[in-house]
Amino acid sequence: MNVLVCGGAGYIGSNMTAILAENGHNPIVFDNFSKGHRDAVKGHELAEGDLADFDLLVKILKDKKIEAVMHFAAFIEVGESCALPLEYYRNNFSNTRTLLAAMEKTEVRKFVFSSTAAVYGMPKTVPITEDLEKEPINPYGESKWAVERMCHFQSLTGRLNYAALRYFNACGAGGSGAIGEDHKPESHLIPLVIAAAMGKREDIKIFGTDYPTSDGTCIRDYIHIEDLCSAHLLALEKLDNNPELVYNLGNGKGYSVRQVIETVKKVSGKNVKVTEVARRPGDPPVLTADASKAISQLGWKVKYPQLEKIVETAWIWHSKNPQGYKK
Ligand code: UDP
Repeated sequence: MNVLVCGGAGYIGSNMTAILAENGHNPIVFDNFSKGHRDAVKGHELAEGDLADFDLLVKILKDKKIEAVMHFAAFIEVGESCALPLEYYRNNFSNTRTLLAAMEKTEVRKFVFSSTAAVYGMPKTVPITEDLEKEPINPYGESKWAVERMCHFQSLTGRLNYAALRYFNACGAGGSGAIGEDHKPESHLIPLVIAAAMGKREDIKIFGTDYPTSDGTCIRDYIHIEDLCSAHLLALEKLDNNPELVYNLGNGKGYSVRQVIETVKKVSGKNVKVTEVARRPGDPPVLTADASKAISQLGWKVKYPQLEKIVETAWIWHSKNPQGYKK
């Protein structure tokens, strides 16, 4: 299949591009490089441009005979989304609307959308199943949920078959440590602890040690990037006969912030200075996925159930790329 990978120069998009190619598909990366890295494209076909550009999207969808679109191009910072909500609605929602309009015009039906566990807000129960109330508590989660609703209603017209994949904590590096995570600024726990282990940061700050969890720190569900991408591939292949697919993508297993720090110390063999600070606003104590729907309906198999193995791949990438991607 010819697949347009929007945001294909970013962390998840670049891993997806590699996996599509390995599985006999023809990925075409679409990116404006506002956040993505040219070095992450790794020789795959590139169409440079902005998702706000309807005419360009129509041209690419037609010229490249695109059969499916995978959409990873979004802003992802919860804190930033609270400071700049309109930017999040513009980039995450309005630009996705433009993309769907271009798909409608060119009759491209298949769409795989990168959604998030943030659509659930502060869940009343864990592990989270897909039917739990969607009550996002920040513009980031709200902008993703708004896209899911838009896809739902567009699918009802018969012009769109879509999969909304709600990620828990994506992490690790794909290709045995070749395709890694390089956000600027970085806010995610694993790369920050690794940076502290490498001596690039003085310490790692634990945001809150008084949560109602076994060690007082937040528990999250860390899912390896290759496992995430394999679920996308399975969803893509199922879209022919399904207008609407919605899945949680997580390991189902929770690790606390302290466990993540200990794992990085073990994998790296380095010490990490820990500073305990106040809670970060908007962090639920525990977020874990019930991914049984993806497992049973897609036949999804997680290759990296163990945090240690996940961290090993991240450690390889960061050790090889201490300054991140060069460009
Ligand atoms: N966290 C932390 N210190 C940091 C970054 C994150 O204690 O410097 C915690 C954060 O509060 C959350 C967990 O680590 O409980 C995972 O945070 P991350 O930002 O990686 O992902 P999120 O769960 O917010 O999507």
